[in-house]
Amino acid sequence: MTGHRATRLLAAGAVVLSVLAGCSGGGHGSPSGTSGPSASLSPAQVVQLALKDVERYWTATYPTISGGKPFQPIQGGYHPYTQSSPPPACGGEEGVYQPNAFYCPDGDFIAWDAEQLIPQLQSKFGRLLVVLVFAHEYGHAVQYRLGMTDQPTVVLEQQADCYAGAWLGDAKAGHSGSFTGITPAQIDSALAGLLQLRDQPGTSKANEGAHGNAFDRIRALQDGVENGATKCAGYNEGNLPITEVPFTEERDAESGGNLPYDQAVDTLVKDAEAYWAKAYPQLTGRQWKPLTVRPFDSGSAPACPDPDTIADGAAFYCPTGDFIAYDDQRLQALYEAFGDNAVGLVIGDLYARAVQHRRGQSTQGSAGQLAVDCLNGSWTNDLLHRDPRTETTKLSPGDLDEAVAALLAFGRGTSGSGASGFDRIAAYRNGVLNGLSACK
Ligand SMILES: [Zn+2]
Repeated sequence: MTGHRATRLLAAGAVVLSVLAGCSGGGHGSPSGTSGPSASLSPAQVVQLALKDVERYWTATYPTISGGKPFQPIQGGYHPYTQSSPPPACGGEEGVYQPNAFYCPDGDFIAWDAEQLIPQLQSKFGRLLVVLVFAHEYGHAVQYRLGMTDQPTVVLEQQADCYAGAWLGDAKAGHSGSFTGITPAQIDSALAGLLQLRDQPGTSKANEGAHGNAFDRIRALQDGVENGATKCAGYNEGNLPITEVPFTEERDAESGGNLPYDQAVDTLVKDAEAYWAKAYPQLTGRQWKPLTVRPFDSGSAPACPDPDTIADGAAFYCPTGDFIAYDDQRLQALYEAFGDNAVGLVIGDLYARAVQHRRGQSTQGSAGQLAVDCLNGSWTNDLLHRDPRTETTKLSPGDLDEAVAALLAFGRGTSGSGASGFDRIAAYRNGVLNGLSACK
């Protein structure tokens, strides 16, 4: 978040997944088939199964988006590389080791860092993320086959994410022989990994290499899961909501767009209060009564007979006392782990809970949690749509990703509501993109 405005772009930072322009290639590596998702697959085995299964998916699906033309699998081969054995040249550019995975259109090949990137992604986030990385790269091959590459990079990246999601939707539906029984927990873990593959915060969406922030990328992936490859194929600059924004001033870029903790909490609470004073009457036809906010030290929460808690009791709304409370040390830890808008996500969740209780609606179970997430997102929608010339509080690059990261951190295992992180992000995004009216 920031309290100012102005004029400087941060140079594009490291982008982990990239598509290079131009290349040359060799033979078609055929993945030898271990079958079934045994727990002990090596990263190399997962990659082989992934490429084979994504190829299966496109063989079946490509004709539906190509006007009936058959799919031609990758012709230039699959090239794992290491620091001592760098990737093949691509489009006249010498192959240089990077912790990366890429599709090379010139040679029609896919290459990846088999030494660090892929093993790390698998051990930290599970094999599903590895498959999604390859489904994404294969998505770029599909774009070239369709002749649909004349779009800004950020659109092409979201489309490749959408295609990866289309593969995931197909696998979830039971069509993959290799990746079966995919669980919500595996998907949430893969989404957490995607957060690490985002652009550096502050990359302008007009930047040559912009891949999009994680918020937009997860949206595209979910779009593919829910609506399939035909929806992805229709992506263009005019029909995608792209929320990525550059840093608007030097000071903001230097701080990473983060306010100091105390100032962040103070600013966010005031802003949430002002938002609901305006929004609650629209929702209910009734006036909003200011909400009491009580920070507490770990272990000494204010008494409440019926707390509606989040994050294992680190914060709660108290219906009987009609106040919200949060563990100051734990909120600060969250701030340090994810950034200032992770605090915004918690404050927004607590206010949304208060809204639900005050208007006699549930916050419990999956539906209640998703309603809270949508209302929380509606506040973010309001923040995104303010006039930057007159407003002092506004979102910085990375704020939406911070919110999604915090949401996934809570959504996994701790909420007990039955709503997956995947569903919670979708509900939050619905509020962010469509505003309060989407949450009624
Ligand atoms: Zn890409």
